[in-house]
Amino acid sequence: MGKTNIKLERRCPRLGGPVPFKYCMLTGEDKQPCFKVIDCWWETFDVVRYLKDNLPEDQFNRLLDARPRPKIASLVELIEKAKNQKNE
Ligand code: SF4
Repeated sequence: MGKTNIKLERRCPRLGGPVPFKYCMLTGEDKQPCFKVIDCWWETFDVVRYLKDNLPEDQFNRLLDARPRPKIASLVELIEKAKNQKNE
């Protein structure tokens, strides 16, 4: 699926201008992903899956915990799906 070649851009609500996904992955504390990365990207592609595949588990869990309460059920489903796949 070429996950490492993701070229995506969106308007960052924090900066007010367009940023590439790569930026979001490095702009948090200690060059970790921005705490809003799931919120900002889950509608664009399966960012939960991407993070799960590309981050150490503790970082991944921290991002899940950092999220504000999910606004809609499908986001919860996405996360549950990712958790279940972890056990496969
Ligand atoms: S994840 Fe963070 S840096 Fe990226 S667009 Fe959202 S707020 Fe901006």
